[in-house]
Amino acid sequence: MGGFEDIGARLDALENQGLYRRRRVVEGAQGRELIVDGRRLLNFCSNDYLGLAADPRIAEAFAGAVRKWGVGAGASHLVCGHTGAHRDLEQALAAFTGRPRALLFSTGYSANVGVINALLSVGDHVFEDRLNHASLLDGGWISRADFHWYEHRNVDDLGRQLANSHASDSRLLIVSDGTFSMDGDFCPIGSLVPLARQSAAWIMIDDAHGIGVHGVGGRGLVDPEVYSTEDVPVLVGTLGKAFGTFGAFVAGDDALIETLVQRARNYIFTTALPSAVAIATLRSLAIVAEEGWRREHLAGLISRFRAGADEIGCKLLPSDTPIQPVIVGSARAALAVSRLLEDAGILVTAIRPPSVPRDTARLRVTLTAAHTEADVDRLIECLASIPRDAGPA
Ligand SMILES: *Cc1c(COP(=O)(O)O)cnc(C)c1O
Repeated sequence: MGGFEDIGARLDALENQGLYRRRRVVEGAQGRELIVDGRRLLNFCSNDYLGLAADPRIAEAFAGAVRKWGVGAGASHLVCGHTGAHRDLEQALAAFTGRPRALLFSTGYSANVGVINALLSVGDHVFEDRLNHASLLDGGWISRADFHWYEHRNVDDLGRQLANSHASDSRLLIVSDGTFSMDGDFCPIGSLVPLARQSAAWIMIDDAHGIGVHGVGGRGLVDPEVYSTEDVPVLVGTLGKAFGTFGAFVAGDDALIETLVQRARNYIFTTALPSAVAIATLRSLAIVAEEGWRREHLAGLISRFRAGADEIGCKLLPSDTPIQPVIVGSARAALAVSRLLEDAGILVTAIRPPSVPRDTARLRVTLTAAHTEADVDRLIECLASIPRDAGPA
């Protein structure tokens, strides 16, 4: 068979391997409960870590801004789509991250691809953690730099590869998730910084899951009191997770930001984020900074879940974050457990290859500040009631 004749057969093969993906239709806003395909389910899937995606104060700011700024930005930032709303949010994000400047992107995916491509080209080297987010990998591949994987969180492995790649006229960029999106663990930033300095490499940290959630005032893994802009020259954050809105930003010094404005194709050739999203995010940023109780409550739920899941013999990973994977094994088994939970009124996504390595398919439980302790207890009870051999191995 040649050409596209096997396109249907390949879909069938995905289905047979338990790898077929289906979208669920949600009606209404994000929250601790979701109406999915007409049923009310307790939601343990969302990245709305602080429970802000449907916050009425942010919604009100958004609605007011739509009346002032309209809906569409109408053009890219470099043509006539860049507004005072964008400028104000960029300044606020720079202050929040303790960096001289910040630049808005329409999504985290496009920020990651755009940044790596603006910085690297043929003859340069990019070093990526094995478990980096797909957008970081895609950015590295598209850049045409030499691509190096290093073992997950393994600074020795990275060090060896950096030493082998050193060349005076090429750029070396170390790229890592801050909090890994499928395992929930942190990147070893304290060891990456001296290694990068010694190798004349730059570090790029994508703290999509950390910003707003951890650290002093929700500043995430890259605490500006500890890590200067020289230590971590490129910091990426997203707005669609803890901030509960949409979009992303890159924070760094003036030369980095100007380089991105001149060269990042994903910045230049795309419509600007709606101004109302920027205004809503400004409101969200103030709430994230002020309402420390959201992070404290979330931390309490994380401990409660871990203690409970451990007691009933769940296989957890060493994560102190709202991302709490329960390892199941095969893709089919993970799907089967996820379906049984759903029958019990609980929504937890099964994450399967290629998002995670083979035989480590898992339930990716995410906790948010919108949950109650009783919600967590209910999840543990349901997990306990599912037979260990629920699915085919
Ligand atoms: C979600 C995520 C992104 C993508 O961000 P979007 O704004 O949703 O495109 C990038 N990196 C990491 C680590 C993520 O978890």
